[in-house]
Amino acid sequence: MRTAFTPTQLTDPHIAEAEKNLRACVHCGICTATCPTYVLLGDERDGPRGRIVLMQNMLQKGGVPDAETVLHVDRCLSCLACRSACPSSVDYARLIDEARSHIQTHYRRPWGDRLLRWLIATVMTRPALTRIGLFAAHLAGPLTWLLPGRLKGMARTGLATPIAGPAALPRAILPNARRVALMPGCVQGAIAPGIDAAVARVLARRGIELVPLEGAGCCGSLVYHLGRSEDAKNWARRAIEAYERGGGADAFEGVLITATGCSAHLKDLTHLFLDDPLWLPRARAFAAASRDFLDLATPVAAPEPRPLRVAWHAACSLQNGLKLAGKGEALLAAAGFEVASVPEGHLCCGSAGTYSILQPEISQALRARKLDNIAATEPDIVASTNFPCMNHLAGADGPPFVHAAELVDWVEGGPIPVALMARAG
Ligand code: SF4
Ligand code: SF4
Ligand code: SF4
Repeated sequence: MRTAFTPTQLTDPHIAEAEKNLRACVHCGICTATCPTYVLLGDERDGPRGRIVLMQNMLQKGGVPDAETVLHVDRCLSCLACRSACPSSVDYARLIDEARSHIQTHYRRPWGDRLLRWLIATVMTRPALTRIGLFAAHLAGPLTWLLPGRLKGMARTGLATPIAGPAALPRAILPNARRVALMPGCVQGAIAPGIDAAVARVLARRGIELVPLEGAGCCGSLVYHLGRSEDAKNWARRAIEAYERGGGADAFEGVLITATGCSAHLKDLTHLFLDDPLWLPRARAFAAASRDFLDLATPVAAPEPRPLRVAWHAACSLQNGLKLAGKGEALLAAAGFEVASVPEGHLCCGSAGTYSILQPEISQALRARKLDNIAATEPDIVASTNFPCMNHLAGADGPPFVHAAELVDWVEGGPIPVALMARAG
Protein backbone atom coordinates (compact mmCIF):
# COMPACT_ATOMS: atom_id res chain seq x y z
CA MET A 1 0.00 0.00 0.00
CA ARG A 2 1.33 3.48 -0.85
CA THR A 3 1.87 5.91 1.99
CA ALA A 4 2.36 9.67 2.11
CA PHE A 5 4.08 10.43 5.40
CA THR A 6 6.38 13.45 5.38
CA PRO A 7 10.13 13.02 6.06
CA THR A 8 9.60 14.86 9.36
CA GLN A 9 6.87 12.41 10.44
CA LEU A 10 9.17 9.50 9.59
CA THR A 11 11.85 10.70 11.99
CA ASP A 12 9.56 9.34 14.75
CA PRO A 13 10.60 5.67 15.02
CA HIS A 14 7.06 4.61 16.01
CA ILE A 15 5.61 6.26 12.89
CA ALA A 16 8.43 4.73 10.81
CA GLU A 17 7.51 1.26 12.16
CA ALA A 18 3.84 1.87 11.41
CA GLU A 19 4.65 3.09 7.90
CA LYS A 20 6.74 -0.02 7.16
CA ASN A 21 3.77 -2.21 8.07
CA LEU A 22 1.28 -0.04 6.14
CA ARG A 23 3.42 -0.47 3.03
CA ALA A 24 3.49 -4.25 3.56
CA CYS A 25 -0.32 -4.51 3.52
CA VAL A 26 -1.60 -5.45 0.04
CA HIS A 27 -5.28 -5.19 1.08
CA CYS A 28 -5.94 -8.81 0.20
CA GLY A 29 -8.49 -9.15 3.04
CA ILE A 30 -7.33 -12.66 4.04
CA CYS A 31 -7.25 -11.46 7.66
CA THR A 32 -10.88 -10.30 7.60
CA ALA A 33 -12.53 -13.65 8.29
CA THR A 34 -10.37 -14.21 11.38
CA CYS A 35 -11.39 -10.90 13.01
CA PRO A 36 -13.93 -11.35 15.84
CA THR A 37 -15.43 -7.87 15.48
CA TYR A 38 -15.86 -8.28 11.71
CA VAL A 39 -17.41 -11.73 12.21
CA LEU A 40 -19.85 -10.19 14.69
CA LEU A 41 -20.61 -6.80 13.12
CA GLY A 42 -19.98 -7.45 9.41
CA ASP A 43 -18.67 -3.90 8.84
CA GLU A 44 -15.39 -3.52 6.90
CA ARG A 45 -14.39 -0.69 9.27
CA ASP A 46 -14.61 -3.22 12.14
CA GLY A 47 -12.17 -5.56 10.42
CA PRO A 48 -8.38 -5.27 10.14
CA ARG A 49 -8.29 -4.11 6.50
CA GLY A 50 -10.77 -1.31 7.11
CA ARG A 51 -9.09 -0.28 10.36
CA ILE A 52 -5.72 -0.16 8.59
CA VAL A 53 -7.12 2.39 6.11
CA LEU A 54 -8.65 4.47 8.90
CA MET A 55 -5.44 4.35 10.96
CA GLN A 56 -3.27 5.30 7.98
CA ASN A 57 -5.44 8.33 7.20
CA MET A 58 -5.40 9.39 10.85
CA LEU A 59 -1.64 9.02 11.33
CA GLN A 60 -0.75 10.65 7.99
CA LYS A 61 -3.05 13.61 8.59
CA GLY A 62 -1.95 14.01 12.21
CA GLY A 63 -3.89 16.24 14.61
CA VAL A 64 -7.35 15.55 16.04
CA PRO A 65 -8.82 12.23 14.79
CA ASP A 66 -12.45 12.02 13.68
CA ALA A 67 -15.03 10.27 15.86
CA GLU A 68 -15.61 7.53 13.24
CA THR A 69 -11.95 6.44 13.34
CA VAL A 70 -11.92 6.50 17.15
CA LEU A 71 -15.07 4.34 17.27
CA HIS A 72 -13.66 1.60 15.04
CA VAL A 73 -10.17 1.65 16.59
CA ASP A 74 -11.77 1.43 20.06
CA ARG A 75 -13.72 -1.64 18.96
CA CYS A 76 -10.52 -3.53 18.08
CA LEU A 77 -9.69 -6.20 20.68
CA SER A 78 -5.92 -6.21 19.94
CA CYS A 79 -6.31 -10.00 19.75
CA LEU A 80 -3.89 -10.08 16.79
CA ALA A 81 -5.71 -12.94 15.03
CA CYS A 82 -5.25 -10.79 11.90
CA ARG A 83 -1.48 -10.73 12.39
CA SER A 84 -1.36 -14.53 12.61
CA ALA A 85 -3.44 -14.83 9.40
CA CYS A 86 -1.56 -12.27 7.31
CA PRO A 87 0.53 -13.79 4.48
CA SER A 88 2.41 -10.49 4.01
CA SER A 89 3.72 -10.42 7.60
CA VAL A 90 1.98 -7.15 8.47
CA ASP A 91 2.61 -6.56 12.17
CA TYR A 92 -0.80 -5.13 13.05
CA ALA A 93 0.33 -4.56 16.66
CA ARG A 94 2.61 -1.74 15.50
CA LEU A 95 -0.37 -0.03 13.84
CA ILE A 96 -3.04 -0.41 16.50
CA ASP A 97 -0.63 0.52 19.33
CA GLU A 98 0.46 3.70 17.53
CA ALA A 99 -3.16 4.53 16.66
CA ARG A 100 -4.29 4.15 20.28
CA SER A 101 -1.41 6.28 21.49
CA HIS A 102 -2.27 9.00 18.90
CA ILE A 103 -5.92 8.99 19.96
CA GLN A 104 -4.95 9.22 23.63
CA THR A 105 -2.85 12.35 23.03
CA HIS A 106 -5.00 14.09 20.37
CA TYR A 107 -8.65 13.25 21.06
CA ARG A 108 -10.82 14.61 23.86
CA ARG A 109 -13.24 11.92 24.96
CA PRO A 110 -16.52 12.67 26.81
CA TRP A 111 -15.89 13.19 30.55
CA GLY A 112 -17.52 9.90 31.60
CA ASP A 113 -15.24 7.96 29.26
CA ARG A 114 -12.18 9.83 30.54
CA LEU A 115 -13.16 9.16 34.15
CA LEU A 116 -13.72 5.46 33.46
CA ARG A 117 -10.37 5.10 31.70
CA TRP A 118 -8.57 6.99 34.47
CA LEU A 119 -10.19 4.73 37.09
CA ILE A 120 -9.16 1.60 35.18
CA ALA A 121 -5.58 2.81 34.71
CA THR A 122 -5.24 3.91 38.34
CA VAL A 123 -7.10 1.21 40.28
CA MET A 124 -6.72 -2.01 38.31
CA THR A 125 -2.93 -1.72 38.03
CA ARG A 126 -2.51 -1.67 41.82
CA PRO A 127 -3.61 -4.71 43.88
CA ALA A 128 -4.21 -2.65 47.06
CA LEU A 129 -6.49 -0.20 45.21
CA THR A 130 -8.17 -3.10 43.39
CA ARG A 131 -9.04 -4.65 46.77
CA ILE A 132 -10.40 -1.30 48.03
CA GLY A 133 -12.40 -0.92 44.80
CA LEU A 134 -13.85 -4.42 45.19
CA PHE A 135 -14.74 -3.75 48.84
CA ALA A 136 -16.44 -0.49 47.78
CA ALA A 137 -18.42 -2.33 45.10
CA HIS A 138 -19.47 -5.01 47.62
CA LEU A 139 -20.47 -2.34 50.17
CA ALA A 140 -22.36 -0.22 47.63
CA GLY A 141 -24.15 -3.38 46.44
CA PRO A 142 -27.75 -2.41 45.70
CA LEU A 143 -26.82 1.25 45.05
CA THR A 144 -24.73 0.45 41.96
CA TRP A 145 -27.77 1.08 39.74
CA LEU A 146 -27.36 4.80 40.54
CA LEU A 147 -24.07 4.92 38.61
CA PRO A 148 -24.09 6.02 34.96
CA GLY A 149 -23.53 3.61 31.98
CA ARG A 150 -20.30 1.63 31.98
CA LEU A 151 -19.35 2.75 35.51
CA LYS A 152 -22.39 0.72 36.60
CA GLY A 153 -21.09 -2.24 34.57
CA MET A 154 -17.66 -1.90 36.20
CA ALA A 155 -19.20 -1.76 39.71
CA ARG A 156 -21.37 -4.79 38.97
CA THR A 157 -18.33 -6.72 37.77
CA GLY A 158 -16.64 -5.79 41.06
CA LEU A 159 -19.71 -6.95 42.97
CA ALA A 160 -19.56 -10.37 41.31
CA THR A 161 -15.82 -10.73 41.93
CA PRO A 162 -14.50 -12.44 45.07
CA ILE A 163 -11.82 -10.61 47.06
CA ALA A 164 -8.70 -12.36 48.28
CA GLY A 165 -6.07 -11.09 50.69
CA PRO A 166 -2.39 -10.99 49.75
CA ALA A 167 -0.86 -14.49 49.80
CA ALA A 168 2.73 -15.42 50.51
CA LEU A 169 4.51 -17.29 47.75
CA PRO A 170 5.64 -20.78 48.76
CA ARG A 171 9.46 -20.68 48.56
CA ALA A 172 11.14 -23.90 47.61
CA ILE A 173 14.60 -24.31 49.10
CA LEU A 174 16.24 -26.25 46.33
CA PRO A 175 19.95 -26.92 46.09
CA ASN A 176 21.29 -25.85 42.67
CA ALA A 177 17.85 -24.54 41.64
CA ARG A 178 17.40 -22.46 38.53
CA ARG A 179 16.26 -19.04 39.81
CA VAL A 180 13.50 -17.15 38.00
CA ALA A 181 12.22 -13.72 39.12
CA LEU A 182 8.44 -13.47 39.55
CA MET A 183 6.67 -10.24 38.57
CA PRO A 184 3.88 -9.50 41.07
CA GLY A 185 1.25 -8.52 38.49
CA CYS A 186 -1.86 -6.98 39.99
CA VAL A 187 -5.53 -7.85 39.35
CA GLN A 188 -4.85 -11.60 39.47
CA GLY A 189 -3.03 -11.22 42.81
CA ALA A 190 -6.05 -9.44 44.32
CA ILE A 191 -8.60 -12.01 43.14
CA ALA A 192 -6.81 -15.31 42.68
CA PRO A 193 -3.46 -15.35 44.53
CA GLY A 194 -3.59 -19.17 44.50
CA ILE A 195 -2.47 -19.17 40.87
CA ASP A 196 1.04 -17.87 41.59
CA ALA A 197 1.31 -20.32 44.50
CA ALA A 198 0.37 -23.25 42.21
CA VAL A 199 2.85 -22.06 39.57
CA ALA A 200 5.59 -21.90 42.24
CA ARG A 201 4.92 -25.50 43.34
CA VAL A 202 4.76 -26.86 39.78
CA LEU A 203 8.04 -25.17 38.83
CA ALA A 204 9.73 -26.20 42.10
CA ARG A 205 9.08 -29.83 41.14
CA ARG A 206 10.95 -29.03 37.92
CA GLY A 207 13.96 -27.58 39.74
CA ILE A 208 13.01 -23.90 39.36
CA GLU A 209 12.81 -21.53 42.33
CA LEU A 210 10.62 -18.42 41.95
CA VAL A 211 11.95 -15.27 43.61
CA PRO A 212 9.52 -12.31 43.98
CA LEU A 213 10.80 -9.31 42.02
CA GLU A 214 10.82 -6.70 44.77
CA GLY A 215 9.77 -3.23 43.65
CA ALA A 216 8.14 -4.28 40.37
CA GLY A 217 4.40 -3.78 39.82
CA CYS A 218 2.02 -4.10 36.90
CA CYS A 219 3.55 -5.12 33.59
CA GLY A 220 1.91 -2.09 31.96
CA SER A 221 -0.03 -3.98 29.30
CA LEU A 222 -3.37 -2.79 30.66
CA VAL A 223 -2.55 0.91 30.30
CA TYR A 224 -0.70 0.37 27.01
CA HIS A 225 -3.87 -1.00 25.43
CA LEU A 226 -5.68 2.13 26.60
CA GLY A 227 -3.19 4.15 24.53
CA ARG A 228 -1.42 5.45 27.66
CA SER A 229 2.09 4.84 26.34
CA GLU A 230 3.82 7.06 28.90
CA ASP A 231 2.16 5.19 31.78
CA ALA A 232 3.16 1.89 30.14
CA LYS A 233 6.77 3.08 29.90
CA ASN A 234 6.75 4.06 33.57
CA TRP A 235 5.54 0.59 34.62
CA ALA A 236 8.14 -0.98 32.32
CA ARG A 237 10.97 1.17 33.73
CA ARG A 238 9.93 0.15 37.24
CA ALA A 239 10.08 -3.55 36.31
CA ILE A 240 13.42 -3.19 34.50
CA GLU A 241 14.97 -1.34 37.45
CA ALA A 242 13.71 -4.01 39.87
CA TYR A 243 15.20 -6.74 37.70
CA GLU A 244 18.56 -4.99 37.40
CA ARG A 245 18.60 -4.20 41.16
CA GLY A 246 18.00 -7.88 41.88
CA GLY A 247 21.06 -8.86 39.85
CA GLY A 248 19.64 -9.13 36.30
CA ALA A 249 20.86 -11.94 34.08
CA ASP A 250 23.63 -12.79 36.58
CA ALA A 251 21.07 -13.62 39.27
CA PHE A 252 18.07 -14.89 37.30
CA GLU A 253 17.56 -17.29 34.44
CA GLY A 254 14.50 -15.24 33.45
CA VAL A 255 11.50 -13.15 34.54
CA LEU A 256 8.07 -14.73 34.80
CA ILE A 257 4.59 -13.27 34.98
CA THR A 258 1.83 -15.84 35.24
CA ALA A 259 -0.80 -14.40 32.86
CA THR A 260 -0.05 -14.86 29.15
CA GLY A 261 -1.47 -11.43 28.26
CA CYS A 262 1.18 -9.90 30.49
CA SER A 263 4.08 -12.11 29.40
CA ALA A 264 3.25 -11.39 25.73
CA HIS A 265 3.50 -7.67 26.55
CA LEU A 266 6.80 -8.06 28.40
CA LYS A 267 8.36 -10.06 25.56
CA ASP A 268 7.39 -7.23 23.19
CA LEU A 269 8.62 -4.42 25.46
CA THR A 270 11.45 -3.23 23.20
CA HIS A 271 9.03 -1.42 20.88
CA LEU A 272 7.98 0.93 23.66
CA PHE A 273 11.47 2.41 23.87
CA LEU A 274 12.34 2.79 20.17
CA ASP A 275 12.68 6.55 20.69
CA ASP A 276 14.74 6.27 23.87
CA PRO A 277 18.39 5.29 23.29
CA LEU A 278 19.10 5.15 27.04
CA TRP A 279 16.34 2.69 27.89
CA LEU A 280 16.26 0.70 24.64
CA PRO A 281 19.13 -1.70 25.46
CA ARG A 282 17.81 -2.20 29.02
CA ALA A 283 14.32 -2.94 27.69
CA ARG A 284 15.78 -5.31 25.09
CA ALA A 285 17.66 -7.28 27.79
CA PHE A 286 14.54 -7.44 29.98
CA ALA A 287 12.32 -8.55 27.08
CA ALA A 288 14.83 -11.29 26.21
CA ALA A 289 14.68 -12.52 29.83
CA SER A 290 10.84 -12.63 29.93
CA ARG A 291 9.29 -16.07 30.25
CA ASP A 292 5.80 -17.49 30.18
CA PHE A 293 4.67 -20.32 32.47
CA LEU A 294 4.43 -22.59 29.42
CA ASP A 295 8.08 -21.84 28.50
CA LEU A 296 9.14 -23.24 31.87
CA ALA A 297 6.64 -26.00 32.75
CA THR A 298 8.00 -29.18 31.19
CA PRO A 299 5.29 -31.83 30.58
CA VAL A 300 5.66 -34.64 33.13
CA ALA A 301 3.49 -37.76 33.61
CA ALA A 302 1.47 -37.41 36.84
CA PRO A 303 1.74 -40.16 39.49
CA GLU A 304 -2.03 -40.20 40.07
CA PRO A 305 -3.81 -38.81 36.97
CA ARG A 306 -7.49 -37.88 37.23
CA PRO A 307 -9.71 -38.93 34.33
CA LEU A 308 -11.31 -35.53 33.69
CA ARG A 309 -12.19 -33.93 30.38
CA VAL A 310 -10.57 -30.49 30.11
CA ALA A 311 -11.53 -27.94 27.45
CA TRP A 312 -8.42 -25.93 26.62
CA HIS A 313 -9.03 -22.19 26.19
CA ALA A 314 -5.98 -20.78 24.38
CA ALA A 315 -5.84 -17.04 25.03
CA CYS A 316 -5.20 -14.79 22.01
CA SER A 317 -1.98 -13.62 23.67
CA LEU A 318 -0.84 -17.25 23.81
CA GLN A 319 -1.68 -18.03 20.19
CA ASN A 320 -0.93 -14.75 18.44
CA GLY A 321 1.47 -13.03 20.83
CA LEU A 322 3.64 -15.75 22.34
CA LYS A 323 3.12 -18.30 19.54
CA LEU A 324 2.91 -21.09 22.12
CA ALA A 325 -0.10 -22.89 20.63
CA GLY A 326 -0.10 -26.58 21.58
CA LYS A 327 2.05 -26.20 24.70
CA GLY A 328 -0.84 -26.04 27.19
CA GLU A 329 -2.55 -29.06 25.66
CA ALA A 330 0.74 -31.03 25.80
CA LEU A 331 1.27 -30.13 29.47
CA LEU A 332 -2.25 -31.20 30.49
CA ALA A 333 -2.26 -34.36 28.35
CA ALA A 334 1.04 -35.47 29.94
CA ALA A 335 -0.54 -34.90 33.36
CA GLY A 336 -3.25 -37.41 32.43
CA PHE A 337 -6.18 -35.18 31.47
CA GLU A 338 -8.32 -35.75 28.40
CA VAL A 339 -7.85 -32.47 26.51
CA ALA A 340 -10.56 -31.17 24.15
CA SER A 341 -9.99 -28.37 21.62
CA VAL A 342 -12.63 -25.64 21.62
CA PRO A 343 -14.25 -24.95 18.19
CA GLU A 344 -13.53 -21.46 16.75
CA GLY A 345 -10.51 -21.38 19.05
CA HIS A 346 -9.08 -18.43 17.07
CA LEU A 347 -11.96 -16.13 18.10
CA CYS A 348 -11.27 -13.92 21.15
CA CYS A 349 -13.51 -14.47 24.20
CA GLY A 350 -14.12 -10.72 24.55
CA SER A 351 -12.07 -10.19 27.71
CA ALA A 352 -9.10 -8.44 26.06
CA GLY A 353 -7.79 -6.55 29.08
CA THR A 354 -10.34 -3.84 29.81
CA TYR A 355 -12.42 -4.42 26.67
CA SER A 356 -15.14 -6.15 28.70
CA ILE A 357 -15.64 -2.87 30.60
CA LEU A 358 -15.20 -0.45 27.69
CA GLN A 359 -17.13 -2.38 25.01
CA PRO A 360 -19.63 -4.43 27.04
CA GLU A 361 -22.06 -5.33 24.22
CA ILE A 362 -19.44 -6.78 21.84
CA SER A 363 -17.59 -8.36 24.74
CA GLN A 364 -20.71 -10.14 26.03
CA ALA A 365 -21.61 -11.37 22.54
CA LEU A 366 -18.13 -12.87 22.18
CA ARG A 367 -18.34 -14.37 25.67
CA ALA A 368 -21.66 -16.08 24.86
CA ARG A 369 -20.23 -17.44 21.60
CA LYS A 370 -17.12 -18.75 23.39
CA LEU A 371 -19.20 -20.40 26.15
CA ASP A 372 -21.37 -22.11 23.50
CA ASN A 373 -18.24 -23.42 21.78
CA ILE A 374 -16.82 -24.60 25.11
CA ALA A 375 -20.11 -26.32 26.01
CA ALA A 376 -19.98 -28.22 22.69
CA THR A 377 -16.89 -30.06 23.98
CA GLU A 378 -18.84 -31.27 27.06
CA PRO A 379 -15.98 -30.58 29.48
CA ASP A 380 -15.70 -31.24 33.21
CA ILE A 381 -13.35 -28.25 33.54
CA VAL A 382 -12.02 -25.44 31.38
CA ALA A 383 -8.32 -24.58 31.63
CA SER A 384 -6.33 -21.57 30.46
CA THR A 385 -3.16 -19.71 31.38
CA ASN A 386 -4.61 -16.20 31.21
CA PHE A 387 -6.51 -15.15 34.33
CA PRO A 388 -8.38 -12.20 32.72
CA CYS A 389 -10.05 -14.62 30.23
CA MET A 390 -10.93 -17.02 33.05
CA ASN A 391 -12.44 -14.24 35.16
CA HIS A 392 -14.45 -12.96 32.20
CA LEU A 393 -15.78 -16.37 31.10
CA ALA A 394 -16.42 -18.01 34.46
CA GLY A 395 -19.86 -17.74 36.01
CA ALA A 396 -22.84 -19.65 37.27
CA ASP A 397 -23.77 -20.24 33.63
CA GLY A 398 -20.65 -22.25 32.80
CA PRO A 399 -18.21 -24.94 33.91
CA PRO A 400 -15.39 -24.19 36.40
CA PHE A 401 -12.34 -22.36 35.03
CA VAL A 402 -8.88 -23.09 36.37
CA HIS A 403 -5.33 -22.04 35.51
CA ALA A 404 -3.40 -24.95 33.92
CA ALA A 405 -0.85 -24.67 36.75
CA GLU A 406 -3.56 -25.34 39.36
CA LEU A 407 -4.60 -28.54 37.56
CA VAL A 408 -1.06 -29.82 37.13
CA ASP A 409 -0.25 -28.91 40.74
CA TRP A 410 -3.31 -30.87 41.91
CA VAL A 411 -2.39 -34.10 40.12
CA GLU A 412 1.19 -33.73 41.30
CA GLY A 413 0.13 -33.63 44.97
CA GLY A 414 -0.92 -29.99 45.50
CA PRO A 415 -4.31 -28.74 46.77
CA ILE A 416 -7.52 -29.01 44.77
CA PRO A 417 -8.07 -25.81 42.69
CA VAL A 418 -10.38 -23.31 44.43
CA ALA A 419 -12.86 -23.31 41.50
CA LEU A 420 -13.25 -27.11 41.78
CA MET A 421 -13.54 -27.01 45.56
CA ALA A 422 -16.38 -24.47 45.24
CA ARG A 423 -18.26 -26.76 42.81
CA ALA A 424 -17.66 -29.78 45.03
CA GLY A 425 -19.41 -27.78 47.79
S1 SF4 B 1 -4.00 -10.21 5.40
FE1 SF4 B 1 -2.28 -8.79 5.69
S2 SF4 B 1 -1.90 -7.89 3.68
FE2 SF4 B 1 -3.95 -8.81 3.60
S3 SF4 B 1 -5.34 -7.12 4.19
FE3 SF4 B 1 -4.87 -8.25 6.07
S4 SF4 B 1 -3.11 -7.11 6.94
FE4 SF4 B 1 -3.27 -6.49 4.77
S1 SF4 C 1 -6.57 -7.29 16.46
FE1 SF4 C 1 -8.33 -8.70 16.50
S2 SF4 C 1 -10.14 -7.36 16.65
FE2 SF4 C 1 -8.40 -6.07 16.02
S3 SF4 C 1 -8.50 -6.04 13.78
FE3 SF4 C 1 -7.10 -7.71 14.33
S4 SF4 C 1 -8.39 -9.54 14.41
FE4 SF4 C 1 -9.76 -7.74 14.47
S1 SF4 D 1 -1.70 -5.93 32.69
FE1 SF4 D 1 -1.01 -7.80 33.71
S2 SF4 D 1 0.13 -7.10 35.44
FE2 SF4 D 1 -1.11 -5.35 34.73
S3 SF4 D 1 -3.10 -5.42 35.72
FE3 SF4 D 1 -3.35 -6.61 33.97
S4 SF4 D 1 -2.91 -8.68 34.62
FE4 SF4 D 1 -2.00 -7.38 36.09
